[in-house]
Amino acid sequence: MAAEIIDGKAIAQLVRSEVAADVADWVGAGNAPPGLATVLVGDDAASAVYVGGKQRASAEVGIEGFDHRLPQDTAHQDVERVLRDLNADPRVSGILLQLPTPPQVDGPALTEIIDPAKDVDGLTPISAGLLAKGRPGLRPCTPQGVMELLRRHDVTLAGAEAVVVGRSELVGKPLAALLLAEHATVTVCHSRTRDLGAVCRRADVLVAAVGRPGLVRGDWIREGAVVIDVGINRTEQGLTGDVEFEAAAERARLITPVPGGVGPMTIAMLLRNTLQAARAA
Ligand code: NAP
Repeated sequence: MAAEIIDGKAIAQLVRSEVAADVADWVGAGNAPPGLATVLVGDDAASAVYVGGKQRASAEVGIEGFDHRLPQDTAHQDVERVLRDLNADPRVSGILLQLPTPPQVDGPALTEIIDPAKDVDGLTPISAGLLAKGRPGLRPCTPQGVMELLRRHDVTLAGAEAVVVGRSELVGKPLAALLLAEHATVTVCHSRTRDLGAVCRRADVLVAAVGRPGLVRGDWIREGAVVIDVGINRTEQGLTGDVEFEAAAERARLITPVPGGVGPMTIAMLLRNTLQAARAA
């Protein structure tokens, strides 16, 4: 195998220790600790695990947790009331509504009522607009995690050909904007892209964020490219990404594994966003 493996777990741990030190300085300077409110509606087991992980990670770095768990049959208006209360609560720096929500609750619409100053998921239209305009703001966590991995490995982005496969609001689109802000030449691919392989072969930096195991074939990787696999797919072989890892690693210079690549970065960036929101309040 030629590629160096990007250790997302180790980099995430580093970011978390940095956030812990920054939170300690912030509180030491006489400020209230940053607060992260999570709102989980219903009893989806996977969502409960995610929210639990976020709250545990917050506590570890000195962020105060506000863990709201609402029953499966909670009315849309009641979730809205909780979010509006959190918007008004000065102890809360960041608010996160865990998606998906039960059918009677319009989760995406409720995400939009979160105060943009507390939008630590970076998913409100205001946050998306600030990103598109290149103005300071809270950025979505997973794309920020990808950028952090590239930064910590000194990957040159100015002038680089970056190809992002996937154009979701959560990952692909904001990531393309972040790469563009770093002066990469960015191509965004999606389900209608013609000859995906040919586009991928142009990439100095290739990011796959699709959710299809092995979609990006090893022979699509340009020799010496940096390959970031955001995909998380549960298969009979266990957790895999969107990239044919073994074959891609033969050609890439740097590559993220799944698991242990981008995954651990998301929570680390959420913690950093929460501190950023507290500082800006
Ligand atoms: P999503 O909303 O389902 O978007 C998938 C994107 O892939 C869409 O833009 C879609 O194109 C594109 N696509 C689908 N089939 C394609 C094909 N054959 N060729 C090219 N593009 C294709 O997914 P997401 O939320 O962005 O998540 C993507 C993956 O990342 C998932 O595996 C998810 O689990 C993972 N993820 C990981 C983290 C983490 O590591 N913390 C966080 C978020 C997501 P169209 O727009 O044309 O439909």
